[in-house]
Amino acid sequence: MLTNRSKQVVKKEMTWVEKAYLPAIFQGLIITFKHIFKKKATIRYPEQKRPIAPVYRGQHVLKRDESGAERCTACGLCAVACPAEAITMVAAERTKDEVSLYREEKYASVYEINMLRCIFCGLCEEACPKEAIFLTDRIVPSTFERHEFIFGKDILVEPVNERLDVTKRQTPEVLEFKKDKKHKHNLTFLDKVIVKKSRH
Ligand code: SF4
Ligand code: SF4
Repeated sequence: MLTNRSKQVVKKEMTWVEKAYLPAIFQGLIITFKHIFKKKATIRYPEQKRPIAPVYRGQHVLKRDESGAERCTACGLCAVACPAEAITMVAAERTKDEVSLYREEKYASVYEINMLRCIFCGLCEEACPKEAIFLTDRIVPSTFERHEFIFGKDILVEPVNERLDVTKRQTPEVLEFKKDKKHKHNLTFLDKVIVKKSRH
C-alpha cells in the first residue's frame, strides 16, 4: 500500500429506494436549481464578448505608413523570430510606378501567416524593425476549412481608409523615435516628395 488513502469498496445490495433512483434524481435536481441562482461562468459568445486587455495578442495587422504605403520590406526577421514557423513571404523589388504603394525598395509580394500554427506569442511584432506588423485585439474568426486559416495580404494589410490604432502596443520611446525625420526609416513617401521639391 503506497498511501493510507485507499478504501476497500464493499459491494452491497441496493435497497428498493435506491433501485427506484428517485433520491439520486432529486439530489441532482437540487444541485441544478442551486446553480440557476448562481452567477453564470459562461457567456453567450459571439453575441456577448468578454472584455479583453488593450494589449491582447490577437489577429495580426500589416501596417501602412501615414501616406498609405505598406511598411513591410520583406526583411524576413519576423519569420526568423517566429517559434511556430507560421510566417512565409516572398520578397519583390519595387518599380518606379509603385513608389507610393511600398515604403522602401523591397516589399512583400506574398506575406502569409498560418493561424493554425500561430501561438500568438508576439515575437514577430517585437522582431520587426519597421513597425510593420502588430498583433491586435481582434479574435481570429473560426471556420471549418484548414486553408481558410492561411491569412494572406488581403486579410493582413490594413485597408487605407480603415486604419487600426496600435498606439497602445507601442512604447512612448518608439513613438518619439518615429517623429525624428533625421532617420531615413521615419520618412514617409510624402516627406520624401517634400525633400525632393525643396532641393530643386
Ligand atoms: S505571434 Fe508568434 S507564433 Fe504567431 S506569427 Fe508571430 S511570432 Fe509566430
Ligand atoms: S513584417 Fe517587419 S520583420 Fe516581417 S518582413 Fe516585414 S518588415 Fe521584416
